[in-house]
Amino acid sequence: MNSKKMEKFKQVLIELRNHLSGDVEKNRKTSQTDEFTEMLADTTDEAARLSTRQILLNLGEQGREKLKLIEEALDRIEEGSFGTCQLCEKNIPEARLRVVPFAQYCVTCLDELEKEKSIDRINTI
Ligand SMILES: [Zn+2]
Repeated sequence: MNSKKMEKFKQVLIELRNHLSGDVEKNRKTSQTDEFTEMLADTTDEAARLSTRQILLNLGEQGREKLKLIEEALDRIEEGSFGTCQLCEKNIPEARLRVVPFAQYCVTCLDELEKEKSIDRINTI
């Protein structure tokens, strides 16, 4: 991949990161101050309230996971290895990178990994 294209992906990743870190920060703050519980206070069913809270917290978890992938992709841009599969070291098609700029694996390796079920769902995007 030429440096001009890489620069473009870098911009996309930085934008994604800024967007996401804002979200994660919001989630973190909210769960600390317990605003969710207040927000959901009119939900009379305790179980429903707890599960909604759990979902929101899980979203925060996923956001952090995604943020990590974006950071790693940015590192790979600095190293010049961006767009290369982390397993077989073949080029990841640009069409895929446009959809998932922080993709770590090519589709072939992803299929293998999915079969093994050894990675989190977040990595299978
Ligand atoms: Zn691969």
